[in-house]
Amino acid sequence: MLVPGVESPHLCAQCSDYPCVKACPVEALSIDDDTMAVLVDKENAQAAAYA
Ligand code: SF4
Repeated sequence: MLVPGVESPHLCAQCSDYPCVKACPVEALSIDDDTMAVLVDKENAQAAAYA
């Protein structure tokens, strides 16, 4: 958050080394083979959030 109290969307910059995919402790992120976009496994991510 750049300005306290103001929410703004953060768009993925598709980093070449995908640090988010490597850092996720529950392996909820993956890379789409066709588009190279970062995909989020919502069930896996939400399960980790409420564990
Ligand atoms: S690739 Fe991952 S770390 Fe890089 S901008 Fe996108 S979501 Fe963030």
